[in-house]
Amino acid sequence: MADLLGGKGANLSEMTNLGLPVPPGFTITTEACRAYLATGREPDGLREEVDAHLRALEEARGKRLGDAADPLLVSVRSGARFSMPGMMETVLNVGLNDASVAGLAAQAGGDERFAWDSYRRLIQMFGKTVCDVPSEEFEHALDDAKRARNTTNDLDLDAADLRALVDTYKKLFAKHTGREFPQDAREQMDLAILAVFQSWNAERAILYRRQERIPADLGTAVNVVAMVFGNLGPDSGTGVAFTRDPASGHQGIYGDYLANAQGEDVVAGIRNTIPLQELERLDKRSYDELLGIMSKLESHYLDLCDIEFTIEQGKLWMLQTRVGKRTAAAAFIIAGQLVDEGLIDLDEAVMRVNGEQLGQLMFPRFDLSGDPKPLARGVGASPGAAVGKAVFGAPRAAELARAGEQVILVRRETNPDDLAGMIAAQGILTSRGGKTSHAAVVARGMGKTCVSGADALEVDTRNGKFTVDGTVIREGDVISIDGTTGKVYVGAVPVQPSEVVRYFEGDVAGDQEGADPLVSAVHRIMSHADSLRQLRVRTNADTGQDAARARRFGAEGIGLCRTEHMFLGDRRELVERLILARTDGERQDALDALLPLQRADFVEIFEAMDGLPVTVRLIDPPLHEFLPPLEELAVSVAVARERGEDAAKAEALLAAVRRMHEQNPMLGLRGVRLGLVIPGLFAMQVRAIAEAAAECAGRGGNPLPEIMVPLVGAVQELETVRAEAERIVADAGAGAVSIGTMIEVPRAALTSGQIAEAAEFFSFGTNDLTQMAWGFSRDDVEGAFFWRYIELGIFGISPFESLDRDGVGRLVRIAADEGRAARPDLKLGVCGEHGGDPESVHFFHEVGLDYVSCSPFRVPIARLEAGRAAVETAPSAAAG
Ligand code: PEP
Ligand code: MG
Repeated sequence: MADLLGGKGANLSEMTNLGLPVPPGFTITTEACRAYLATGREPDGLREEVDAHLRALEEARGKRLGDAADPLLVSVRSGARFSMPGMMETVLNVGLNDASVAGLAAQAGGDERFAWDSYRRLIQMFGKTVCDVPSEEFEHALDDAKRARNTTNDLDLDAADLRALVDTYKKLFAKHTGREFPQDAREQMDLAILAVFQSWNAERAILYRRQERIPADLGTAVNVVAMVFGNLGPDSGTGVAFTRDPASGHQGIYGDYLANAQGEDVVAGIRNTIPLQELERLDKRSYDELLGIMSKLESHYLDLCDIEFTIEQGKLWMLQTRVGKRTAAAAFIIAGQLVDEGLIDLDEAVMRVNGEQLGQLMFPRFDLSGDPKPLARGVGASPGAAVGKAVFGAPRAAELARAGEQVILVRRETNPDDLAGMIAAQGILTSRGGKTSHAAVVARGMGKTCVSGADALEVDTRNGKFTVDGTVIREGDVISIDGTTGKVYVGAVPVQPSEVVRYFEGDVAGDQEGADPLVSAVHRIMSHADSLRQLRVRTNADTGQDAARARRFGAEGIGLCRTEHMFLGDRRELVERLILARTDGERQDALDALLPLQRADFVEIFEAMDGLPVTVRLIDPPLHEFLPPLEELAVSVAVARERGEDAAKAEALLAAVRRMHEQNPMLGLRGVRLGLVIPGLFAMQVRAIAEAAAECAGRGGNPLPEIMVPLVGAVQELETVRAEAERIVADAGAGAVSIGTMIEVPRAALTSGQIAEAAEFFSFGTNDLTQMAWGFSRDDVEGAFFWRYIELGIFGISPFESLDRDGVGRLVRIAADEGRAARPDLKLGVCGEHGGDPESVHFFHEVGLDYVSCSPFRVPIARLEAGRAAVETAPSAAAG
């Protein structure tokens, strides 16, 4: 019930049902949160329900909230459907006040230090979360208290110090809020609940959702759970653990433990933790129980789980579990391992990974052949190779990144306020915290390189530098960080391609004994995805080289060969001649000169894709795009005249550019319109295709060209081009060539039944289709104002990135259905950017297209996602 209870609430219930030791509590649903956010007030009935559940909780614990002698304390925690680590709010120790702090001490066997420590934490968290008191103020007060004691360790503060600190905190609270810290325990709880609701819309939460593509309207649940204490002395403590190594996937015991502390101390990396294994020495009984629980959780969830636990005076409590975040590599390796262990089948393994993770694995790594000496070493918290200028604050990182700089964000430890900087940076480097620190968890989630806990670094954020053994790195100095090994280098270390790319290239085998475990897992999962998928995957490529690479990556043909690059470079001169031609003869001369060049291009591509279909699109952009810009020409004309040189050619070009100028070139003389207006242009291209095919076939090859007409809006356009093309193809003796069209003008989608009469295939040009369906200029709007649209929730992600199912998707469906109704064997594909977008691939599978076509590097991603889509829609999709 994660939709209703949030991930945390659902898993707490699940663990309770499994009979695991979970402190009692209740969950307020995401529905209540949505109602609150919509109306700005507490939903009707919430108060009564909270009353009833609080009473049950009090009974279960045998304590009352607000009781001075023996207070029930609760934690109030957020927990949304999708994990958003540290993005929303939590308040612990709710229920303490000036009177019950003494009762708590008495209940803890007279431990006054513990009681005052709990109280100061409450004021700090409540102040920050509920009342926006700047948290640094509390931190500075804590630092001052430690300094007065001449220590850096909060455990050295005694009860009297903490009591004085509570006083200071209360004054800070009153100064910032204009009111005293609330002494009514129930008021504390109610305010904390509303603050958690509100934290759904905190800036950093919004930013995180945008980054992770989490819908903006889900809301968070609120978990109110009886407190158990990890700070009740040396036989208490708190920790986090994974049931497998989240980086490599290896089975074992991976976690951090901190004695005599509360949960946030571990996650924030405030004090250095000890490895979980050492708990065996400290408290064998709890340790053994924990291992038992971890194995129970793995066999229940059939996956790597991460957990948070607390030991209160020798008694173990489970505070949280969830299917753990993991690196992309670990996702593949773990899925393979779970298959080997018989826990899941290969279909399920395909579902346990995704195209985005595969994309991450295709990033390059450092080339260490020059044997660079690392400056320091930390924990390899999130893999990858990142090079950039060191920066020491999130705003600065974001600013430099906006200016096009590559940066590495260096912090002592990160906190949720650093999120914008983490997104902007190539990588993140911290001097504190382990694999479970905030920096590590968030970076892994984003697929960003991170080295954490490089404790040789003395990070001085205030002065913008860090020091290691006398070496000083200042803001702007380039460093390289390796998120796999944890090594930090001065300067830029060269990078090399990923092992997974080498596998796709065929340089390393995936199916042999002793293969790299990642490569072997990728191989198994990809092979299975290929066996499942119904969509074919082609590539968008317009050179032989790209075509050959895409083919190695698994492309089953070319879905879009754009011919415009064939008019650039040293061929511009011919295009200029074409445009400036004053007679039919001059124009034909220019076309005749272009013909052999184009033919050679096609031969190269047909050879690279021999035996596989190659869809060649006739020229699409407006011709004036091939001429120099107006301003440039105007200047050269002026300069030539000034110098008394012959300006005739430049003047002619300038005049042509002026004549051909369009207010809306995207809606102007382009695509099929060019072919109909400029005599001989399409004919030359069709002839080049047909002759190239004949040439390849004559050499024993098997070229399978398809001719595609862009920007068609009416069947008459296509019929005119088709009639001429058929004549030329027959004349060239190239055998059958299928002729089809792009569907990228809404009118084409809406009249697809007619258009199918003249087309053997449709390829959806979803870039233009999105542009014209929304009326969004595809070159302008994303940078100009989409941030605002995303902020307003008009869409969660740019429709140019991921297909808008409701609008553009509807046009695709209409065209597919009506096109197939008119011509049952009509072949359907997509060649817009969406062809390589995981979400969109699932949509195209659902619509029943024959293939998607995408850039070479996205081909493996599309293959995997097409396999996943097939599992998802299989009739027996009971997996998971
Ligand atoms: C499209 O419009 O989706 C398409 C593939 O064509 P282009 O991007 O070249 O306009
Ligand atoms: Mg287009």
